[in-house]
Amino acid sequence: MNFPYSAGTVPVSTLGTPRIGPRRELKSALETYWAGKSDAPALLEAAARLRAANWARQKSLGVSNIPSNDFSLYDHVLDTAVMVGAIPPAYGWSGGPVPLDIYFAMARGSQSAETTCAHGHAHPHGSGVPALEMTKWFDTNYHYMVPEFSPGQRFSLTSTKPMDEYREAKALGYETRPVLLGPVTFLKLGKATEPGLDPLSLLGDLLPVYVEVLRRLSAHGAEWVQIDEPCLVTDLDEAARAALREAYGFFAHALPKLKIMLTAYFGRLGDTLDTALALPVAGLHLDLVRAPEQLREVADKARAGLVLSLGVIDGRNVWRANLPGLLDTLEPFVRKRGTDHVEIAPSCSLLHVPIDLEQETGLDPDVKSWLAFAVQKMDELVTLGTALAGGREVVLGKLMESGAAAEARRVSPKVHDGRVAARLAAVTPDMTRRSRPFAARAELQRGRLRLPLFPTTTIGSFPQTPEVRKARAALGKGELSDAGYDAFLKEETARTLRWQEEIGLDVLVHGEFERNDMVQYFGEQLCGFAFTRHGWVQSYGSRYVRPPILFGDVARPAPMTVEWWRFAQSCTDKPVKGMLTGPVTILNWSFVRDDLPRSTVSRQIALAIRDEVTDLEAAGAKMIQIDEAAIREGLPLRRADWDAYLDWAVASFRLCASGVRDETQIHTHMCYSEFNDIIAAIAAMDADVISIETSRSKMELLDAFVDYRYPNEIGPGVYDIHSPRVPAVEEMVELLERATQRLAAAQIWVNPDCGLKTRQWAEVRPALINMVAAAHRLRGHL
Ligand code: GLN
Ligand code: ZN
Repeated sequence: MNFPYSAGTVPVSTLGTPRIGPRRELKSALETYWAGKSDAPALLEAAARLRAANWARQKSLGVSNIPSNDFSLYDHVLDTAVMVGAIPPAYGWSGGPVPLDIYFAMARGSQSAETTCAHGHAHPHGSGVPALEMTKWFDTNYHYMVPEFSPGQRFSLTSTKPMDEYREAKALGYETRPVLLGPVTFLKLGKATEPGLDPLSLLGDLLPVYVEVLRRLSAHGAEWVQIDEPCLVTDLDEAARAALREAYGFFAHALPKLKIMLTAYFGRLGDTLDTALALPVAGLHLDLVRAPEQLREVADKARAGLVLSLGVIDGRNVWRANLPGLLDTLEPFVRKRGTDHVEIAPSCSLLHVPIDLEQETGLDPDVKSWLAFAVQKMDELVTLGTALAGGREVVLGKLMESGAAAEARRVSPKVHDGRVAARLAAVTPDMTRRSRPFAARAELQRGRLRLPLFPTTTIGSFPQTPEVRKARAALGKGELSDAGYDAFLKEETARTLRWQEEIGLDVLVHGEFERNDMVQYFGEQLCGFAFTRHGWVQSYGSRYVRPPILFGDVARPAPMTVEWWRFAQSCTDKPVKGMLTGPVTILNWSFVRDDLPRSTVSRQIALAIRDEVTDLEAAGAKMIQIDEAAIREGLPLRRADWDAYLDWAVASFRLCASGVRDETQIHTHMCYSEFNDIIAAIAAMDADVISIETSRSKMELLDAFVDYRYPNEIGPGVYDIHSPRVPAVEEMVELLERATQRLAAAQIWVNPDCGLKTRQWAEVRPALINMVAAAHRLRGHL
C-alpha cells in the first residue's frame, strides 16, 4: 500500500509527530520508570524505539522532510530549557549535562507529589522541590513547563539532545530536519522570577547557545533546521519584532550556509508578516488552515528565493481534507512559484492529533471515512506533493476517494439534521435572557430556598475511588451487569448524600460517580459525537486525553441526568443541585467539526443543554449548576479576536441557562483562571451564583469581581482541592473574612475550589467538616 515516492514530489514535511506511541508506549515506559520498576536505560531504549518507529513510518509513507528532535520524554519547552541551562537553582544542578532526575524534578517536582484536579490538569505540590509551573501551549490543549529566568540568568549548552537524535536517525538511515523551539518564543513563554526582568532582554546571552547547537547540527551534516516561532502569530510589540530580527540576523551571520525553515503556526502572521518575510531565513512556514487568506499576500510579497512551506492539512483537527479542492488552490500558486520553492506541510506539528485512524475498529464507518489522524494526514500530504509535482493523474484514485469522502460528508444525514438547524434559526433574543434582572431573581430565590448566610456547598464531584473505577471497568468488560453497576452507583450516591447531610452542608450534590469525564459523559448521550478507542493526544507529560469527535448536528434525544438527580433528591430534604457541563466547555474539549463556525456548534450544544436544564427544573430541581470550566481556555491568540469569541461564548451559556423560571437558581463554576480581562463577559453570563478557584491565591483572584462590582452571588473557593492537605477551620475563616471585606455577606457562598473527584475520602471528610465549621464561625460573627 505504501509506495514511496522517491522522485516527482513537491517536498513534504510533517513539522513534528506525536511522541506517545500508537498504544501509549511512552506513558507506560515513563510510569514504569517513575514507579521505580525500570531503570533509565530501559526508559531511553523505549524512547529510541518510538523515534525509530516514527521515522520509519514517515519514510515509508513518503515524507521528504522527516523531523528529528521533535520527540520529547515530557515536553519540548522543558527540553529547550534543559538544553540552554535554564535550570532554577532549587533543582540542585551543578553544571554539566542535566541528569534525568533533574529533568523529571523540573517536570513533576522532586517528590513526584503531583495531583490532578477534576478537569485533568496537574497541580504539583508537596514538600521537596515543586515542579515548574505548567500552562497552555498557545490555544491548544497541550501544556508546557514554563521556563524560569532569574536576574543574572546565564545560558550555556547543557544538552546534546538535538545532535544526538539527528545522529541517531542518521545511523538508522534517515536524513532528518532537526526541529528547535525558537529563541524568541522560548523566552516569551518563560517567566521572570523578578518583576523587573524582561525575558527578552536575555536574548543576547541565549543566541550563542543556539548558534552552537546549529553549528554542531550543521557539522553533523544537517542542511536544514526547522525553527518554530509560533509567537509570530500572537500580538507582538516592536521589541519582540526587533528580537526576531536580531536572532535570525545573528544566525544568518554566524552560519550563512545553514538553511532555516522558520515556522509560524496556529494563526495568521497579520501585522508581523512583513517582519517575518524580511528575516534572513531560507524558508517560511505558514498556517494556511487557520489563515488561508495569507497565501495571496505572501505570494505577492515573498522574495523569489524563499521556500514557502504551505500548511494546508489541518494539524489541529481530525478531519480528512478535500484534496481535489486543495489542489485547485495550490496548483496555480505552485506553478507560479516553482516546485523547488514550495513545501507541503500540515498547518502545525502533528503533535495535536491522534496517531492512526486504522486502530479504530469501533467507529461508524461513515464517520471514519471522514477522518484523518497523523498517519493519514502524512499520506494526504504525500498525495498532494505528488499531484503538484507530477499531475493529478499520478494519484487519481486517492484524489477521487478524498473528494468522494468530502462530498459524502457534506450531504450525510448523519451530519445534518434539519430539525437542529431549524431550531437554531428560531432562537429569539428572549431565549437568552432570564425574565427578571438578578436582583429580583435573587429575592424570589431567597424566599424559596431559605438558605442561611454563607451557604455551604461543593462543586459537584466526590472522590472517584478505585472501587468506582473498578466498577466502571467491570461494566465495560461485561463482568458487571447494567443493573449491578446501577445499584452500586446508587449506593455510592445515597451514602454520599447522607454524609453531606450529616455534616451539615446546605446545598448538596449527587457526587458524579456515574461520570467518567465531564465532557465525555454528555457527549456519549448526545447526537453528533463519536468516541475513539486509541485517539489519544498529549495533554502534558504522560497525561493524554481522548477528545470526543463532534462530527454532526447536536441534539439531545433523551434526558441525560434527570434520573440521577431525581434519585439524589429522593434521598434528602436539602436541595440537590442539578449538575451539567456547559456548551463552551464541551466545545473547547472536543475535536469540533470544521464545516460550521464554532459559534454555531456552540449554540447547538447550548440548545441541547437547555433541554436538560428545563427538564431538571420540571423534575423539581431548584438549583442547576452548569460548569464552564474552559471558557477562558477558548480565548483566541490575538486580542482583536477576543470580543467575538466572548460574545458567542456568553450567548451560548445564556441560551442554555435562560429557559428556567426566575426562582430557579442557576449556578456556574470556573476553574483556576485569570479573571481580570474577561470579567465583563463573566458578568454577562448572568449566572445567579458562580463558584471560582481562589484559595491558593488567597482570594486575590476575587479582586477582578470586586473591582468590577460584580453583582451576583459568588463562591470563592476556600479549600485547595489540588492538594491532599486538609485546611484548618481558621485558615478558611481567614479566607472568608477576606472575602467579606470585599463583597457583601449576602453575596458569598462557601465551597471548595473545584470538584473533589481526584481526592480521597480521608482528605475530603475532615476538610469539608472544617469548611462547614468555618461557615458557621462566619455566621456567628455577624
Ligand atoms: N462539577 C465538576 C466536578 O466537580 C466540575 C469540574 C470542573 O470544573 N473542572 O467535578
Ligand atoms: Zn473547577
